[in-house]
Amino acid sequence: MNRAEPVPFPPPGAATPGVPSGDLPGTFSGTFSGHVSGELSGGVRPERSAVVDLAAVRANVRRIRDLAGPARLMAVVKADAYGHGAVPVARAALEAGAHALGVAHVAEALTLRAAGITAPVLAWLHTVDTDFRAALAQDVELGVSGWELGPVAEAARALGRPARIHLKIDTGLGRNGATAERWPELVRRAAQAEAQGLVRVTGVFTHLAVADEPSRPETREQLERFRAAVDTARAAGLRPALRHAANSPGLFQAAGLERPEDMLLDMVRVGVCLYGLSPFPDRTPRQLGLVPAMTLRSTVSAVKEVPAGQGVSYGLGYVTERPTTLALIPLGYADGVPRSGTGGPVRIQGRTYPEVGRIAMDQLVVDLGAPGLSAPEHGLLGAEAVLFGAGDDPSASAWADAAGTINYEIVTRVSPRVPRVHVDRPADPEHEDPGRTGPGRRSAGDGTPGRVDGSAADGEERA
Ligand SMILES: *Cc1c(COP(=O)(O)O)cnc(C)c1O
Repeated sequence: MNRAEPVPFPPPGAATPGVPSGDLPGTFSGTFSGHVSGELSGGVRPERSAVVDLAAVRANVRRIRDLAGPARLMAVVKADAYGHGAVPVARAALEAGAHALGVAHVAEALTLRAAGITAPVLAWLHTVDTDFRAALAQDVELGVSGWELGPVAEAARALGRPARIHLKIDTGLGRNGATAERWPELVRRAAQAEAQGLVRVTGVFTHLAVADEPSRPETREQLERFRAAVDTARAAGLRPALRHAANSPGLFQAAGLERPEDMLLDMVRVGVCLYGLSPFPDRTPRQLGLVPAMTLRSTVSAVKEVPAGQGVSYGLGYVTERPTTLALIPLGYADGVPRSGTGGPVRIQGRTYPEVGRIAMDQLVVDLGAPGLSAPEHGLLGAEAVLFGAGDDPSASAWADAAGTINYEIVTRVSPRVPRVHVDRPADPEHEDPGRTGPGRRSAGDGTPGRVDGSAADGEERA
């Protein structure tokens, strides 16, 4: 592959950029790709896994592109694709029409390059220790908020090739990005560096603070400040081809604006929606036309009868009120299930039960609500236990509610102790309308979750 002259952000509709041929998840003919980052021997069901449905990722990318219209799509795959596995997700997203990838750290961008992904990649969060030379050597584009311009230009001089940079303005979020006061100086210095052949300013961007609350006025104000910042950059002689601001909630908000193009601009940077999760507290993935991609599952590892008055887990904060059956699930906070998530839902044999008692490092307990269920004919030992997923499974948002956090954190914090198992099915756009169909059909006994009843066809979401 030729990285000397990367094609920056090819227009929508162009051939999938930067996806190496062969070894594509979408080319597997079965329903299970065997594409695992944990231990999995053929046909053996993993004890515990985060199953990632790449067909759902592709369907979400198509949905996002529909909404983005002519704007390009940067698929945000930072934090190991929000816990979903950066490399397989990036490949699936590019295959489905994403134009570029976005990450926080240069190190994350280099991981994508090392996997052979040549699509444009932007990294925007740096430290004085960031290896800008390695970034430039691998054609990683760099977000520049201020101080980075000097070191990036130096690295470009040392390497003898211009750095592609996206200048970032802080229009109100108060994090990265040049303040309005410093912006004119930043664009002037960038124009100088461009004249010296050290950088090429290919983009200008900002990040929204309250896009998940559509009624708030600050988003419009941010977009107005951004427009002014772009004008300042143009006046300084810069010709950034890509203006970008919208994140997932911004993208979904655009349709409600008087001028959606003010939000969509030239490109949208979308993360959480790629994974089929809603960025809004009051809207489900299904309502947004998205399909959750990750299923966190294991099996019931023990079942037992207990009398009334049985305390459960550390602190004995939960005490059974009547004789009942408890099921033990081998997932705990070392696996990324939040310790604060007591009461979160677990689906077993088609029914959803609340987690009870304190969540421990390795395990959590479910009260099945009736005595006598440990008898073998109930088949509970070894039954599939799903904490969250798509379709009829509980949602990551339900766990977020239980733990007092957001769905972003629930999927991202699933720890390396849980193997990621990537499943896929052949691309079939006719049957991937996320509004009508669930994630890839999975057959039992192939190492994938036992959603064998086909009920996933309805992406109903329970919060
Ligand atoms: C994480 C991030 C995004 C993606 O946000 P989502 O809400 O997940 O779509 C976009 N832009 C920047 C700068 C980010 O840090």
